Amino acid sequence: MDVSPILDPLNEAQRAAVTSEDVPALVIAGAGSGKTRVLVHRIAWLCEVHSVSPFSVLAVTFTNKAAAEMRARVESLLKHALGGMWIGTFHGISHRLLRAHWQEAGLKENFQILDSDDQLRLVKRIIQDMGLDDSRWPPKQARGYINARKEEGLRAGQLQHRNDPAARQLVRIYTAYEQECERTASVDFAELLLRSLELLQQNQEILDHYRRKFRHILVDEFQDTNAIQYAWLRTFAGEENPVFAVGDDDQSIYGWRGARIENLHNFERDYRNTQLFRLEQNYRSTNTILSVANALIDNNRERMGKKLWTEGVTGDPVCLYAAFNEQDEARFVAERIRQWVEAGHSRRDDIAVLYRSNAQSRVFEEVFISHSVPYRVYGGLRFFERAEIRDALAYLRLARNPDDDPSFERVVNVPSRGIGQRTMALVRERAVRNRVTLWKAAEEMLQSRSLTTRAAHALERFLQFMSTLEEEIRALVLDAQIDHILRSTGLMSHHGREGSEKAKSRVENLKELVVTARSFDLDNELYKEMLPADAFLVHAALEAGEGQGAIWEDCVQLMTLHAAKGLEFALVFIVGMEEGLFPSDMSKEEPGRLEEERRLCYVGITRAREQLVFTYAESRRRYGADSYYNSPSRFIGELPPELIAEVRPRAMVSTPVRTRSMPGRPGQNSGIGVGDSVVHAKFGRGVVLDCEGAGSNARVQVNFEREGSKWLVLAYANLDKLV
Ligand code: ATP
Ligand code: MG
Repeated sequence: MDVSPILDPLNEAQRAAVTSEDVPALVIAGAGSGKTRVLVHRIAWLCEVHSVSPFSVLAVTFTNKAAAEMRARVESLLKHALGGMWIGTFHGISHRLLRAHWQEAGLKENFQILDSDDQLRLVKRIIQDMGLDDSRWPPKQARGYINARKEEGLRAGQLQHRNDPAARQLVRIYTAYEQECERTASVDFAELLLRSLELLQQNQEILDHYRRKFRHILVDEFQDTNAIQYAWLRTFAGEENPVFAVGDDDQSIYGWRGARIENLHNFERDYRNTQLFRLEQNYRSTNTILSVANALIDNNRERMGKKLWTEGVTGDPVCLYAAFNEQDEARFVAERIRQWVEAGHSRRDDIAVLYRSNAQSRVFEEVFISHSVPYRVYGGLRFFERAEIRDALAYLRLARNPDDDPSFERVVNVPSRGIGQRTMALVRERAVRNRVTLWKAAEEMLQSRSLTTRAAHALERFLQFMSTLEEEIRALVLDAQIDHILRSTGLMSHHGREGSEKAKSRVENLKELVVTARSFDLDNELYKEMLPADAFLVHAALEAGEGQGAIWEDCVQLMTLHAAKGLEFALVFIVGMEEGLFPSDMSKEEPGRLEEERRLCYVGITRAREQLVFTYAESRRRYGADSYYNSPSRFIGELPPELIAEVRPRAMVSTPVRTRSMPGRPGQNSGIGVGDSVVHAKFGRGVVLDCEGAGSNARVQVNFEREGSKWLVLAYANLDKLV
């Protein structure tokens, strides 16, 4: 047997981990040191050398994209397709288990997945139905409470708060929520994990089956597992099946969602004979990028501590650009991308723009469109979460399952068909009273003639329409089903008529949905024995948080720093590097949170192979208001200055209007121009580098001795000129 394709591409430390004995193993290593590579090669090694069947391997990772990539890499090493292999996310694999054992799990066969938005609507409605004031009981908080309890493995019935009225109320909401989910056969994300864990714990036969089946359990990004995920892994493993976990404590970025870095320590305690491996050579980044990453993370106190080195080239300095505002920031990035691609450095899909929060993507999208830079928002502007897409899918869901209340609620009057709030309130009331679904309640009300003629008419037409729709689409292929829904429901013409830019993009998205359905891969083992429509709905629900999943042809990738975990790109921009934004204001209050933000920055930096660029905007519109004088993120200040090259704005940006009469000297009376020395009350002394605009828009760029360069609006800056 030739094992060279498996072992040759590995260094010694990696090889030791890949070929280790069948005992629990923990690989703790820094970014880009080949953890994921080790995991993939370990699977291939087990299959080739130990004749383990690929179907006896359970591999868990964090995103659908990472799972798809892992599967592809294993397939290429083993040289055959492995559709049925159990590689997936915690949610995806839990879902697969629940589909296979829905009866034992106490579910209905056609159970639906509630994504976080569906969940919020449901919680909101429950709070209303309970007659509670939702300013005192904010639905988001209640949803957070429910999810957090589920992630601790706790059901409403297990919670008691005799002395705490507020907690008692939340438990009541949780209880009502559980009942609603039961009644409508709905399962939220946290429930997927909890339910599948309970399934295994409460059904010895099923548990034994899977313990015999999965002899090897491998998990990537282990540092970000939370309590229930860890319990889930341990349950699968039992005493006999070794877990092979790889992770990096410096990249733990989901503490805010309950991830527990302690799991890394617990692992060694829970599995006494754990073998520990460390990898220290980084293969991804230039020496400069790695040094910058190391310097940053050195500021964290709570670390397991490790050294990373590389044999790679020194590489170019890391760039820093101080933009005037967020528009300027995006223009700079667009221009840089153009130069990079023109110089033939890499394709566009090997370039990423990373930001702290999803809201930052909008300006980049606008500027990229006007500069003709093809891009894809990855995660974030979630395709499947857009309202128009959700409407269309809700029709499909309701056609498949009339008992799906969230979908009923969503589309009953979209587009408007004269079914008002009052009618719906009556239907809801009846559904709750008789413990039936909205559909059944509506039918009952029509039979008992308890509605006004007009309301009854409208409601009857809707029920009739849905029944016909179900019949009409039954025989169609998936994309034709969607196409039919878009037309017959009037969704397409509803948006088409409106004519605004927004409406146009909605129409585009709806068309895109048909295309997505056409290219939907039904061969995936996950969807075995499911009807295409059901499979597609599951795909949409599980994929929602991650955008469209696929890497699009030669498009720049836009995503949050969180979504970039595990990925790598030739050129990386980390934008919005401002105090208050990154690290966020909220995180500054808790020391632990600030360290987590720093780890997030470390994750961002270590995504870059060749070139890293930081940008920040001195003024930025946030929540509708301008904020001026943003100072650069403290993380910038923590980097070695000799490795950072500040980019001068003038060379890069097309300069807006200048005063014609006095070039480089704005404001008739200010008398301030390029080269002047000035003093600012807060920033101290500096020299004027540039100026633009006129009148109240006049602004100057000053290089301050202490604070570095800043753009200031002259009218507010109160600069004093030094002679
Ligand atoms: P992260 O912490 O970001 O998840 P990682 O530790 O999982 O990173 P990988 O993604 O496995 O690292 O590897 C980083 C890069 O280095 C990849 O491009 C990989 O192909 C390459 N690489 C890993 N090991 C080697 C090796 N021994 N020889 C050459 N290239 C390697
Ligand atoms: Mg990795």
